[in-house]
Amino acid sequence: MSWEAILEETMIKRSQQKKRTSPLNYKERVFVLTRSKLSYYEERAEKRFKKGSVELQRVKCVEIVKNGGVIIPCQNKYPFQVVYDTSTLYIFAPSNESRCVWVQNMKEEIRNNPQIMEKFHPQFWQGEWLCCGQEDKLAPGCEEYNLYGDISRKPLPPLPENESKSRRPLPLPPAKQETVEEREEVVIALYDFEGTESQDLPLRRGEEYVITEKCDVNWHRARDKNGKEGYIPSNYVTPKQDDNLEQYVWYSKNVNRNKAEEQLQKEGKEGGFMVRNSSSGAYTVSIYTKSLGDMGPAIRHYHIKETDGSPKQFYLAEKHQFSNIPDLIEYHTHNAGGLITRLRYPVGSGSGAAPTTAGFSYDKWEIDPCELTFMKELGSGQFGVVRLGKWRAQHKVAIKAIREGAMSEEDFIEEAKVMMSLSHPRLVQLYGVCTQQKPIYLVTEFMELGCLLNYVRQRRGSFSPQNLLSVCQDVSQGMQYLEHMHFIHRDLAARNCLVNESNVVKVSDFGMARYVLDDQYTSSAGAKFPVKWSPPEVFNFCRYSSKSDVWSFGVLMWEVFTEGKMPFENSSNHEVVNMVMQDQRLFRPKKAPPQIYQIMELCWRERPEERPSFAQISQMITDELETDNQSS
Ligand code: ADP
Repeated sequence: MSWEAILEETMIKRSQQKKRTSPLNYKERVFVLTRSKLSYYEERAEKRFKKGSVELQRVKCVEIVKNGGVIIPCQNKYPFQVVYDTSTLYIFAPSNESRCVWVQNMKEEIRNNPQIMEKFHPQFWQGEWLCCGQEDKLAPGCEEYNLYGDISRKPLPPLPENESKSRRPLPLPPAKQETVEEREEVVIALYDFEGTESQDLPLRRGEEYVITEKCDVNWHRARDKNGKEGYIPSNYVTPKQDDNLEQYVWYSKNVNRNKAEEQLQKEGKEGGFMVRNSSSGAYTVSIYTKSLGDMGPAIRHYHIKETDGSPKQFYLAEKHQFSNIPDLIEYHTHNAGGLITRLRYPVGSGSGAAPTTAGFSYDKWEIDPCELTFMKELGSGQFGVVRLGKWRAQHKVAIKAIREGAMSEEDFIEEAKVMMSLSHPRLVQLYGVCTQQKPIYLVTEFMELGCLLNYVRQRRGSFSPQNLLSVCQDVSQGMQYLEHMHFIHRDLAARNCLVNESNVVKVSDFGMARYVLDDQYTSSAGAKFPVKWSPPEVFNFCRYSSKSDVWSFGVLMWEVFTEGKMPFENSSNHEVVNMVMQDQRLFRPKKAPPQIYQIMELCWRERPEERPSFAQISQMITDELETDNQSS
């Protein structure tokens, strides 16, 4: 029968409307394949809501997608595509096996369709075809399509029994209730969350919650112990698992040696300690003591070592071994056991301040301007004046009022949702926009200490090379996230980074260059074009990529290590183009040791593909920060 289910499975569907890859655009759906249709449903509580369907007669190609190194921003990692009419549906299966079953069954169903494609695109559409770089969405495919084989041209494995008609449906997933039970994920709140809308669920630090739905990467639905349900920011909770250190106050995942020392010194408490990730992939315990013999205050860093055998044991002193790190820490809170002092006082990361959320609530990007109050002016830039303000009289924010004619607003508004979903501790968060009036406003995280360029200039002479490298590490980590999300900054420079009151540096204005309406800024021959931060492929051909961001990052490192000098100070843009084309590069800043300058030089390699990725740069910087064994 045409309505009988051949296959049914929960998979993830990528939205077809959106231009760019954003985690917001990936939704869990129940897919049902019958002889006539592929339908997908949203499953909520006891009910299914039909979200859409494709008639199989209209399908021209079903094939797996080779992801070619692209990072897939959802938990299902096995994509396949269904091409019909002028659209492509991307579906992400939970396993290779399930994907093969779907592709094979669908190929079987469409084999007699009249308009089967001769060629198809084996990789994703992401503003262009990643396989062949063609920008026309309807461009003919670049690889021959084989309806009768798999993507590697091997014939399809035989279907169970000879005739397709006798195919039996896959076993259906276990009954709904069991699935829910199996999947229930218990988390612990790392921070308090008040919630801003009635749809939100308030969180109390240390309490347990059950995740009921992962709506997108930034917002989940959760249930508290009283059965109340609502939205929570996913970065405010951590899975409750024995081996998850994030649930402990003494664990500060992303704190480098330099920042650990700063924090321990600031607290100044005898036996103050934290456990952090070290560059080698293991953990380090950093401890502060007020006096070490006659030497005064001291900080020591101890690697947590692991035994080779199985099950492995953890130890700081070989004599005292433990099966897990919390037990080890517990032991050393009572016994120094060879350390400079026992672990008396856990020091949490930062000031324990809660991180930003991707917008103020789930699915909320439009902000009511009546809920904003305006305070002092913070500065002004390409788009207009930026003011300090408050949202609902409580949350400090920066409000950018966009000057008439400065921005291509429609394009920006379309992209704003994607930008809001970009959320990372080293990115200045976009909270929302006010688009219903003129001028439109952009509401972002407020950064107390202003832009990085002024920050280093004003404090010139007060930084150690370690401090400066730590600044670069912050920026590199923010950029590593953007690289991972396939998001290109296009104007990375010290002036486009901001610093908060805890001296954390964050990347700002990412992607905004695309919406500037000013020829002097957008044309590479224009006076405001950031030539001095641009690699040859950008000033010659406007070819932007994460690797062109890497070049700019090298220049930003140079700005940081010169404590705010202007690159190529005495040369015009035109002269810089000639110099760079003749392989001239910026000189080594006095405060940059040779191994740091080497990182800059790698960023300035002429061929983009020879430049390191941000992931590699972050690792090099972390290694550099950790190999300095001089503790204070
Ligand atoms: P534009 O994007 O219009 O060029 P900028 O983002 O460069 O504007 O902002 C201009 C100035 O305003 C910055 O140099 C900085 O001093 C201040 N500023 C901008 N955003 C913030 C913020 N989120 N927090 C604090 N100050 C800010």
